[in-house]
Amino acid sequence: MSHPHYDVIIIGSGAGGGTMARALAGTQARILLLERGGHVPREADNWSPEAVWKHLKYRTTEEWVDETGTPFRPYTHYNVGGNTKFWGSVLYRLRREDFGLLQHVDGVSPAWPITYETLAPYYDRAEQLYEVHGEVGPDPTEPPRGPFPFPPIPHAPEIADIVERLQAQGLHPSPLPLGLRRPGEPGGCILCNTCNSFPCRLHMKSDAEVCCVLPAVQSSVELWTGAHADRLVTNANGSRVEAVEVTRHGERIRLSARVVVVACGAVNSAALFLRSATDRHPQGLANSSGLVGRRYMAHLATMMQGFHPFRRNHAVFQKTVAINDFYLHGPDTPYPLGQIQSQGRTHGVMAQIVVPWIPLWAYNAWVARGVDWLAMSEDLPHPDNRVTLDPDGRIRLVYRPNNVVAHRRLVRETTNILKRLGFWKVMTHSHKARNTTHQCGTMCFGTDPRASVLDPFCRTHDVENVFVVDGSFFPSSAAVNPALTIAAQALRVADHVLATDLKR
Ligand SMILES: Cc1cc2nc3c(=O)[nH]c(=O)nc-3n(C[C@H](O)[C@H](O)[C@H](O)COP(=O)(O)OP(=O)(O)OC[C@H]3O[C@@H](n4cnc5c(N)ncnc54)[C@H](O)[C@@H]3O)c2cc1C
Ligand code: SF4
Repeated sequence: MSHPHYDVIIIGSGAGGGTMARALAGTQARILLLERGGHVPREADNWSPEAVWKHLKYRTTEEWVDETGTPFRPYTHYNVGGNTKFWGSVLYRLRREDFGLLQHVDGVSPAWPITYETLAPYYDRAEQLYEVHGEVGPDPTEPPRGPFPFPPIPHAPEIADIVERLQAQGLHPSPLPLGLRRPGEPGGCILCNTCNSFPCRLHMKSDAEVCCVLPAVQSSVELWTGAHADRLVTNANGSRVEAVEVTRHGERIRLSARVVVVACGAVNSAALFLRSATDRHPQGLANSSGLVGRRYMAHLATMMQGFHPFRRNHAVFQKTVAINDFYLHGPDTPYPLGQIQSQGRTHGVMAQIVVPWIPLWAYNAWVARGVDWLAMSEDLPHPDNRVTLDPDGRIRLVYRPNNVVAHRRLVRETTNILKRLGFWKVMTHSHKARNTTHQCGTMCFGTDPRASVLDPFCRTHDVENVFVVDGSFFPSSAAVNPALTIAAQALRVADHVLATDLKR
């Protein structure tokens, strides 16, 4: 069967690829969106902690190997909308300072090739697209900007009380910017306690499928699900990608396009480029810098819970507040420590996974008296933290955390804050190196082809018609959640592609 020639093939339908598809939809361009997974079904299990946390129903069953060759199941999802179907929908702009060079305890967080001001108009558009709720003012690190498209999500009474007591500690708690659709309105988001890490059964979470892919498909974009991109095939002199080799329903297909946009997520995009090595690109496609797969980052993240035996936490949706007081420097150190956010409610089943022999009723009693938090710090790009392919084609992910002194310090500060709030005990837990949720950095953008894989518009330096618009392009990980920045840059790249490669 012969297949048409497309103007654009986008590979991957998550934050980067889905947003790109939406931005190009409705233009004259003939666009194909390839996604290896299917649609997440809307079903009761969407909100079942057992299905999501015990049986890992929606996670990939694919295994990667770590530095020692030990297989593990990465915390990632292959489906329409990618990981955004499961995200907590915390949609932050990077801080203005994150675009410059920042000295950390453990080294340097490098500058980006663009400034905050370059991305600001695209952040505006991305916030509209993903219906972000927030408030300008209380956050001391907020970059210059106009108002959010929607007002902040009101705090539950328990969180409102905590916010007042945080202010009394001299801190500056601020509303978390959240992408939720019509919260509290009839037919809208019901502000339930199964949001972060669960798909939304109501389609009221602002994810890439709901906000971008479905409208794009209704407009002009063709979507192929179950379509795995295996390789990118170049012309004889290696200057352009001529075809994408795809496996769909067991069939091997070759598709061609004027422009190819790769958005498989930072690990899988690097793997695709490495798999596409040729005589002209012996180290992997577009890898003259040797940086494809290197400089992998994923944030240092610790889940924390403040526990009080006599205080039941009745909050249902508690993920509404952040503390950014230590984002740029600690209380008595000039170095950045990171960010503190309230988290979605922990369910007994989730907690039981850590120590399975403790009975569920005990966990349920425990978590009913807990308030959950996330402490998150920047990790720094190191060339040895990298994605490679084993001889059998399996993904190998080598990651040794750095900047851990800053993160430990942040966890200590958070513990002190929670103790001052009156919590008797503060519990901590981390998925450590296997937490691939905030993966980024494996094909960084920059102006120097020797020190970066992509140019400032995310076009590869080496191959002229290929762009990468997922988390791969980050030169540094910053310490806020990455996805709004991925979406904003995808919108910027879409404008650029329309003005250059697709100009008629
Ligand atoms: C539980 C959880 C909570 C999170 N919470 C937040 C949050 O609150 N805020 C935030 O900013 N970020 C959050 N994140 C991270 C956020 O989801 C990611 O940063 C974002 O989705 C990355 O976008 P991406 O385009 O790089 O990749 P993805 O969204 O992962 O999309 C990649 C897509 O490519 C597809 N694909 C991969 N390989 C191929 C191939 N070879 N062929 C075809 N298709 C392929 C995948 O199936 C997937 O659909 C969270 C992530 C998780 C898992
Ligand atoms: S209803 Fe709202 S809070 Fe619940 S999963 Fe959907 S978006 Fe999240």
